[in-house]
Amino acid sequence: TTATTAAAPHYVPAGLPQRIQHYIDGQFVDSIDGATFEVLDPVSNTTYVTAAAGQKADIDAAVAAATRAFVDGPWPRMKPRERARILNRIADAVEAQDAHLAEFETFDTGLPITQALGQAQRAAENFRFFADLIVAQSDDTYKVPGSQVNYVNRKPIGVAGLITPWNTPFMLESWKLAPALASGCTVVLKPAEFTPLSASLWAGIFEDAGLPQGVFNLVNGLGEEAGDALVKHPDVPLISFTGESRTGQLIFGNAAPMLKGLSMELGGKSPAVVFADADLDAAIDSTLFGVFSLNGERCTAGSRILVERPIYDEFLEKYSARASKIVVGDPHDPATEVGALVHPEHFDKVMSYVEIGKTEGRLLAGGGRPEGLPTGNYVAPTVFADVEPDARIFQEEIFGPVVAITPFDTDDEALELANGVRYGLAAYIWTNNLERAHTFSQRVEAGMVWLNSHNVRDLRTPFGGVKASGLGHEGGYRSIDFYTDQQAVHITL
Ligand code: NAD
Repeated sequence: TTATTAAAPHYVPAGLPQRIQHYIDGQFVDSIDGATFEVLDPVSNTTYVTAAAGQKADIDAAVAAATRAFVDGPWPRMKPRERARILNRIADAVEAQDAHLAEFETFDTGLPITQALGQAQRAAENFRFFADLIVAQSDDTYKVPGSQVNYVNRKPIGVAGLITPWNTPFMLESWKLAPALASGCTVVLKPAEFTPLSASLWAGIFEDAGLPQGVFNLVNGLGEEAGDALVKHPDVPLISFTGESRTGQLIFGNAAPMLKGLSMELGGKSPAVVFADADLDAAIDSTLFGVFSLNGERCTAGSRILVERPIYDEFLEKYSARASKIVVGDPHDPATEVGALVHPEHFDKVMSYVEIGKTEGRLLAGGGRPEGLPTGNYVAPTVFADVEPDARIFQEEIFGPVVAITPFDTDDEALELANGVRYGLAAYIWTNNLERAHTFSQRVEAGMVWLNSHNVRDLRTPFGGVKASGLGHEGGYRSIDFYTDQQAVHITL
């Protein structure tokens, strides 16, 4: 089966930078030793820009600037309302240039333009949300009659190290920047090396909004160099990391000697469980979106679909027919539903899983490069059926447009299959039986469950995974709690 293709000439946005630099203490700078790395675009796979490759010395300079801004600067001491005004100006600026941001993001990541636009708007919303939250935030005071009054003195912790991945990079950076800044921390951001373009826009947005000098610092570079130096820096008490579980393990170990605060949003292999009594059309719509939106490069992708036996054949037929019609093509084309995967290395990884899948499951759609797209990192939406739970494509995160479908006979079997992987990020449950819906949701090992619903979330809800999918939950006040220390002060009266 071949996916539909929308071949269009490769669109290159106007205004691409000549080179990408660090931003330290309010200045754009190159690496101290002049090191750079090359950045490819995922359609032509040619270098379109070189970026400064941060080393330990650059991280040291950025942390020193962030420390000065924290110790001497106004930011941690400002009233929440004053910080919120600046955060709202940041949100306004992101909103005002959402189309431009989406163009850059699409060019750099290969995400479909319509979806990149939604992500830019979500980034603005993150700033607006944490601006509201910090103003509305209150802490407890307790009176113990005849003895004490106790109150909570909430304080920003210090310099936060933020390390982010290449999928939806701008939005995921905002998910860390907004609560860190709202809390009064100063930051050093190390964005993913595959996709540094949109991150380079933050500095201008922050300057225009009036963020004081040194509060935001950006160091580009490789994970093993710049990222590693940030994790090991003694003056960075907090690391918020989003990326692969393997990298999370490494960072956990590297941060352990300094007992740093860690928030880890890691990988996933989330199940979508479709019972025979579900609204089948809604389940099919949602499970297609769940794994093929954002090119399948989505941490919460529903990349394993478990289907109850009586509807298994009907599900497979309808699902694979729809998957085959998904439009793959130039990411900038608004008709495109699946664009180009981020990087040739990642493309090779996903393609290798497609080949493994052919030995582990029954191929129903896709299975390789779509027709009509001989170059660029394009993978046709790929559907494998009859996948056994010990298959690699059932167990391992592929992070591309590839789905494994497995039948089940009983609720217990479905639960065992759902929980039978090392990950525990999200789960999607489709059933019209109220009791089963809640029983299953509560027993499934996942940080987040969507019950008869699409992957959309209110920013107040907890976000995070269990097992190998993460450590700690962010979202709403939980994010503020991560970036602040809640000191208890006891007064005898
Ligand atoms: P990655 O782990 O390769 O890289 C993430 C970041 O860590 C990059 O900035 C990288 O440079 C840096 N890094 C790499 N090695 C490092 C080291 N030794 N020390 C410090 N920093 C280091 O992940 P990726 O391939 O960029 O992103 C995809 C992964 O992220 C997938 O597993 C996906 O599920 C996960 N993810 C999770 C969530 C979530 O919220 N749970 C969200 C998005 C992505």
